[in-house]
Amino acid sequence: LEVIASVEPRIAEATRQELADQRSSLKLIASENYASPAVLLTMGTWFSDKYAEGTVGHRFYAGCQNVDTVESLAAEHARELFGAPYAYVQPHSGIDANLVAFWSILAHRIETPALERLSAKNVNELTEEDWESLRHEFGNQRLLGMSLDSGGHLTHGFRPNISGKMFHQQQYGTDPETGLLDYDVVRAKAKEFKPLVLVAGYSAYPRRVNFAKMREIADEVGATLMVDMAHFAGLVAGKVFTGEENPVPYAHLTTSTTHKSLRGPRGGLVLAQEEYAPSVDRGCPMVLGGPLSHVMAAKAVAFAEARQSGFQTYAQAIADNAKSLADGFLTRGANLVTGGTDNHLVLLDVSSFGLTGRQAESALLDAGIVTNRNSVPNDANGAWYTSGVRLGTPALTTRGFGHDEFDNVAELIVQVLSNTQPGTTKAGGPSKASYTLADGVADKVKDASAEM
Ligand code: PLP
Repeated sequence: LEVIASVEPRIAEATRQELADQRSSLKLIASENYASPAVLLTMGTWFSDKYAEGTVGHRFYAGCQNVDTVESLAAEHARELFGAPYAYVQPHSGIDANLVAFWSILAHRIETPALERLSAKNVNELTEEDWESLRHEFGNQRLLGMSLDSGGHLTHGFRPNISGKMFHQQQYGTDPETGLLDYDVVRAKAKEFKPLVLVAGYSAYPRRVNFAKMREIADEVGATLMVDMAHFAGLVAGKVFTGEENPVPYAHLTTSTTHKSLRGPRGGLVLAQEEYAPSVDRGCPMVLGGPLSHVMAAKAVAFAEARQSGFQTYAQAIADNAKSLADGFLTRGANLVTGGTDNHLVLLDVSSFGLTGRQAESALLDAGIVTNRNSVPNDANGAWYTSGVRLGTPALTTRGFGHDEFDNVAELIVQVLSNTQPGTTKAGGPSKASYTLADGVADKVKDASAEM
C-alpha cells in the first residue's frame, strides 16, 4: 500500500478501507467470497503487462511462452477438477463466458453447417450474399432460459440484456405455489417454442436442479443444453453436487464464474463436450480480445486449491451452513422462498416484516450486515425495490462460521428487520425506500457480530 500511496494516496486509502469494511461486516452476498492470499497475489504480477490474443501455441503476438504455460495449466486443472473433456479459461467474467458459449453454439450449429452447404472452407471465403443469408439465420435463433424473478440471470434471455436481443427468447419460471422448478412445465414450453439453446442455472434459486432431466428435455427438442453454474461451481468442484445434480456430464456447455463459491479470482470459465471445443476455442477473436494472463494464472492457483481435499470439506460446510441459516429463520417465523434451501443460498421474503427488499437491505447494512435485495417470484414491488433479500454462506464459511454462528446470524437479521419501520413519502403515502431502524439496534448487532 505504501507504493500505491506514493502515487495516488486516495486509492491506497480506499483499498485499506475496503479491507477494514470486509473484515468488520457480515458478508452475506451469495456471489462473494474471500479469495486466498495465493490467489490475490498471483493477480498482481507482470503477466498483466503481456498481450496474448489467440490460444495456446497459436498466438497473434510473439513471446507468449510463459502465458502458454499459465493457460495450459489453468485449463488442465479445470478439466481435472470438473471432469470435463475441454476447458476454456480466457473469459474475463461470467457474462463473457456466456457470450462465448452463445456464439460458439451459433458457430457450431448454424455457421458450420452453412459453410458446408455453401461449399466454403472457412468464413473468409464467404461472399456478401452468403453473409447476408448467414446473418439472417443467426438472427432467427431461439433461446429458452429461467426468468429473472424466478432466480435466473440477466444473461439467460432477459430482454434488456444482449442475450434477449441476439435471440428470440422465452422464459420458464417456477411453480407459483411451491416456488420450485417444474420440469413438466419446462418440457411443455420447450416443445412449443423449440429453442436452439436451453439455458439452465441460476443466481437466486435456493434449490438444486436435476440436470439429467434438463438434458432429456433439450434432447427431445434438439436444443443445446447450456448450464450456467456461476453460483454453485464450488459445490460441484467440492463434490456436494454429484450425479444428476452435477451439470458437467449432462450439459453440452457449462459456463461459470470463478470468484463465487469457487473462491478464485474474478473471471469466467467455459467447459465443453468435445464437439463444441473447436468453436469455444474461437472465443478470441469471436467475442474476446487479449486474455487477462495474470487472472488466468490466478485461476490455475484457485483450481489447484479446489483440487485439494480440504475444499470438499469447505463446500459441504457451505451447504450445511445454508441449512442452519434457513432453519434459524424458520424457527423464528420468517418466510423463505421454497420454504428452505439445499444449496448455498437462502431467499428471505421480507414482506411479512412489512418491508421492501430495498428497505431491508439498507437497514441490515446500517447494522453491518451486507446483503442484496432480490426479487421473489411474481414480485409485487418489481425488480428495483423487490420483496426479498438474498443471503449466501460461501464467504462467512471461509471465515470459519458454522451452525451456531449462522443460527446467530439469522437471529441478528430478524432483530434488525423486526425493529425497522417503513417510512412515508413526502405526500404521506407508504415509501418503498425510506425506513427507520429503532435506536441502538444497529450498534447492538454490530457488537454481537464482532464477537463471532
Ligand atoms: N451467471 C450467473 C448465474 C451469475 O449469477 C452471474 C453474476 O452474478 C453472472 C453469470 C455474471 O458474472 P460476472 O459478473 O462475472 O459477469
